[in-house]
Amino acid sequence: MPVKRILILGGTRDARVLAAALLADGFDVITSLAGVTEHPVLPVGQIRRGGFGGAAGLARWLQAEDISLIIDATHPFAAQMSAHAAEAAASLRLPLLRLERPGWTKAAADRWIEVGSAAEALAALPQAARPLVTIGRKEIAPFFARADLSGVARMIEPPGVAVPESWTLLRERPPFSVEQEQHLITRHAITHLVTKNAGGDDTAAKIHAARALSLAVVMIGRPVKPPCPAFATVDDIRPAVRRALLP
Ligand code: NAP
Repeated sequence: MPVKRILILGGTRDARVLAAALLADGFDVITSLAGVTEHPVLPVGQIRRGGFGGAAGLARWLQAEDISLIIDATHPFAAQMSAHAAEAAASLRLPLLRLERPGWTKAAADRWIEVGSAAEALAALPQAARPLVTIGRKEIAPFFARADLSGVARMIEPPGVAVPESWTLLRERPPFSVEQEQHLITRHAITHLVTKNAGGDDTAAKIHAARALSLAVVMIGRPVKPPCPAFATVDDIRPAVRRALLP
């Protein structure tokens, strides 16, 4: 029987762990990366980079590559890629599974201001706040543009816009320890943490640090993705892949 080919839509640590697991299970695995990170940590197996050209482009690529199953293991905030995957899978009647870690949940000691977007997060910051902003590079410009704000912006890739003198830019990749995060918050006199509800352990230290320091957190909620069978861990999704592809 020919080996079945699986497309993993990646860009996350979970996607890398999944690629290794499915290769070990005997599948042919291609991971797709958006190609926006300069030096990404690469998964094992085959890799392709760059956009597909929308849902239609993805559908053409899936047919050309003889893909039998798509796994959407993108970041919880990569809503467009997930929507395209759902549309392409439906048009070709291909099975689509999602690997998505659960979001962080608010503990009794947390001071969360829950918002629905980066724009709402910016609006939630009071005059002269000093936020630590950890939402990536794409939506940072409006924070820099608000003249009363100063603080720290942390991201992996460069922001692509000028960083005002009153801000500190940190180009760093997780994981960070709770101690490091507490030190950062204290050293820069941070008044608010602005974060997406990414979930998972890799970047959770900032949530624990904020809790310990009683720091206000502006928490951006996840976008809604199209429904499909979803699994929280690699161990959970592996049997579902076998069920979908093996006789
Ligand atoms: P997005 O807004 O959902 O997607 C924008 C476009 O980028 C998509 O329409 C697609 O282009 C292309 N694209 C996205 N993910 C792709 C993938 N895995 N392979 C091939 N093309 C992809 O995505 P985003 O939020 O910019 O995220 C881009 C990548 O970074 C994703 O792989 C995601 O897992 C990762 N990431 C995102 C975040 C975040 O906060 N958003 C955080 C960490 C990692 P076409 O329409 O041309 O196909």
